[in-house]
Amino acid sequence: MPSRRDLLKASLSLPMTAVLSRRVLTQAPRIVVVGAGAFGGWTALELARRGARVTLIDAWGPGNVRASSGGETRIIRAGYGTRSIYTRLAARALQLWRAHDERWQRGFFRRIGALWMFGRDDSFGRASASAVPAEGLPIEALTPSAAARRFPQINFSGVSSVLFEPEAGYLLARRACEHVVERVVAEGGEYRQAAVASPVRVGGGRFASLPLADGTALSSDAFVFAGGPWLGALFPDVIGRLVTPTRQEVYYFGTPAGDDRFLDARLPAWVDFGERVIYGAPGNANRGFKVADDTAGPPFDPTSGDRNATASGVKSARAFLKRRFPALADAPLVGAEVCQYEASPDSDFIVDTHPAAANVWIVGGGSGHGFKMGPALGELVASCVLGQAIPDPIFRLARFGSRAKSPAPRKKWS
Ligand SMILES: Cc1cc2nc3c(=O)[nH]c(=O)nc-3n(C[C@H](O)[C@H](O)[C@H](O)COP(=O)(O)OP(=O)(O)OC[C@H]3O[C@@H](n4cnc5c(N)ncnc54)[C@H](O)[C@@H]3O)c2cc1C
Repeated sequence: MPSRRDLLKASLSLPMTAVLSRRVLTQAPRIVVVGAGAFGGWTALELARRGARVTLIDAWGPGNVRASSGGETRIIRAGYGTRSIYTRLAARALQLWRAHDERWQRGFFRRIGALWMFGRDDSFGRASASAVPAEGLPIEALTPSAAARRFPQINFSGVSSVLFEPEAGYLLARRACEHVVERVVAEGGEYRQAAVASPVRVGGGRFASLPLADGTALSSDAFVFAGGPWLGALFPDVIGRLVTPTRQEVYYFGTPAGDDRFLDARLPAWVDFGERVIYGAPGNANRGFKVADDTAGPPFDPTSGDRNATASGVKSARAFLKRRFPALADAPLVGAEVCQYEASPDSDFIVDTHPAAANVWIVGGGSGHGFKMGPALGELVASCVLGQAIPDPIFRLARFGSRAKSPAPRKKWS
């Protein structure tokens, strides 16, 4: 593994970014990263490892309860239908989560597999079944009756086909975010709990000083804004409603005492891909059996929105449980979270420079599927900021063209 000194030398001998290249840097570049969620935290860590002088800031702390990364757990899977760029990114992310777990010994990645259950339309499954092995990952096709023998806790009625990704599983979300920030500091970066004053006014080709809400400012060579659902408020002119926070409820149901049928050892993470997409994780770090509906909820204010679960949401989760996991039909609700997707119009991520300043990067639009990608996206963004890579066109702001500021229906599972 290259030493920190090698990485620093490498980063300084690069053909520096569009951003950084206009200035002759005699020292490692200073980079401010705003937002210590999955995207900003991993980006900061990767930049610190490559020798940049990183300051990571967050208004409420890594994996805080308002952040999209603030939930208890997040599923990691490589099946993305025809969206093979995400299968590739997820395959890299899986490698990196495994490698970090080995290094950190914290068990953030629970490799319990992921089970896909498809209704009438299984085109997403068929596309995944060829895309996942193309990235070197196994995927098993099961008939519903074979799946029912293997997982008798599940009622497979209405399911036309089943896929099982053995390398998939779930991640301990908020805890991993906290640890990533500890690693940023341990590996040479700085972390501060501070809020950026919104909106951020950028102009004149180069941005040098970032005003904070407390009246001070941070100067830097480059800035990465990974503000999750707050990106629209940070950049109302450039992002605005291109990142729409939507209200999403997550429920935890209590399993019978001593019954391990709904724990990690006996059940994988699962996605029920029918008329709606409903997903969950079994043991879920002892928080209860997790159930969530992926359907985009109403627009939501991530700062002050009401985070109490609704009776109607609980009722439909329970109706689903009764149908798919009948032994849990009367399971008590033992917890709930209200989080938000930070949905881009096409559910693709945003990794691009601000149109008015090439040293300002905007990173977000996780759209309900970004958490797993954290380590891989961190690598990608660090490479872009340091001039080692350019973002794929599907991540660039230009794709929105004249649609800018008007949201369109999302298509996360296309
Ligand atoms: C219910 C739910 C289920 C999900 N399930 C999955 C899943 O199973 N698998 C998966 O891969 N993904 C999943 N996702 C999506 C994933 O969690 C998000 O895409 C990802 O966490 C987004 O990370 P982020 O870093 O962009 O945003 P965030 O985690 O929101 O981080 C942004 C940070 O910016 C900070 N910030 C905001 N404004 C300011 C400011 N002015 N100054 C300073 N700091 C500021 C915030 O405090 C926050 O910590 C799910 C999301 C939700 C809500």
